Amino acid sequence: MQNPLTPEVLADPVALTRALVDIESVSLNEKAIADCVEEVLRGVPHLTTYRHSNTVMARTDLGRAQRVVLAGHLDTVPLNGNFPSTMRGDLMYGCGTSDMKSGVAFALHLAVTLPDPRYDVTYFFYEAEEIESRYNGLTLVAQSHPEWLEADFAVLLEPTYGIVEAGCQGTMRAVVTTHGERAHAARSWHGVNAIHGASEVLRRLTTYEARWVTIEGCDYREGLNAVRITGGVAGNVVPDRCEIEINYRYAPDRDPAGAEAHLREVFAGFDLEVTDAAAGAPPGLESPAAQEFLAAVGAAPIGKLGWTDVARFAAMGIPALNFGPGDPNLAHHKDEHVELTKIRDGAATLHRWLAPA
Ligand SMILES: [Zn+2]
Repeated sequence: MQNPLTPEVLADPVALTRALVDIESVSLNEKAIADCVEEVLRGVPHLTTYRHSNTVMARTDLGRAQRVVLAGHLDTVPLNGNFPSTMRGDLMYGCGTSDMKSGVAFALHLAVTLPDPRYDVTYFFYEAEEIESRYNGLTLVAQSHPEWLEADFAVLLEPTYGIVEAGCQGTMRAVVTTHGERAHAARSWHGVNAIHGASEVLRRLTTYEARWVTIEGCDYREGLNAVRITGGVAGNVVPDRCEIEINYRYAPDRDPAGAEAHLREVFAGFDLEVTDAAAGAPPGLESPAAQEFLAAVGAAPIGKLGWTDVARFAAMGIPALNFGPGDPNLAHHKDEHVELTKIRDGAATLHRWLAPA
């Protein structure tokens, strides 16, 4: 296959977005796009390029005092009648236009066109972000080549509609179980109904007052919700067990241990088991590179509501934020699209930030 990422395409972030969208790369099928990206980067004299599976990394080594990472995932969710891309006026439609090939286009465009950035830059294009974390290219490289990711600051080019979304919330899932005693429903007074026992759990949830936490000027609004409920044995049996699955989205001033302690407090007296936990990430806006980035964007950051791979950078000690042209509300939708002006503006912002002083 002729590489569609030609010099003319690479010079224009809009054309580059479209070319990337038109290389199909549903998770676990990123070889073709990784091949194209790798070939481009290997041809750039000011970069050193590495590859691990279908994750491609290229870096400058200019001896700058600071190093920043621009990162984007190459994969998309499954196609949904939205491939290849189509244009309607100022909008580009197609799978991955928002999440996040327009962001990937930023990094690839800058990698090729900016030989002398003011920081050393690591451009990181990774596989399998949209599926379970054991496949995630960022996780895999953090394990196999952690030195590839050494940096002072990272920008994850996920869709944020051109604003800075700093840090991210943590997430925890837990199961609260109520216990009872089985009995024939015709003589229910001989048993204890575990489903009825769940009413107190639900009462605590409906009366729960979620925190608003402000960190470095960014607001993180927490949420505590029942997301599933199961119980019951048969139509004529008083149930002896009911399970309420809880999802807790917590501000990054809490770590998973703190979040668990909080859940145990809320559900005191009940049997609670944590089934899944992911730490959040603080905003990380204090480093000089982050401050200069905010100045280039010129708008106040907001807290990221949701969990993203910035938490994986934070876990490595690298402050990270989200910034990309796509609308996060359109990600994973059939009519996913991106505004061309957002692509042009965002690319100009990153160029302002990285161009030599
Ligand atoms: Zn994404």
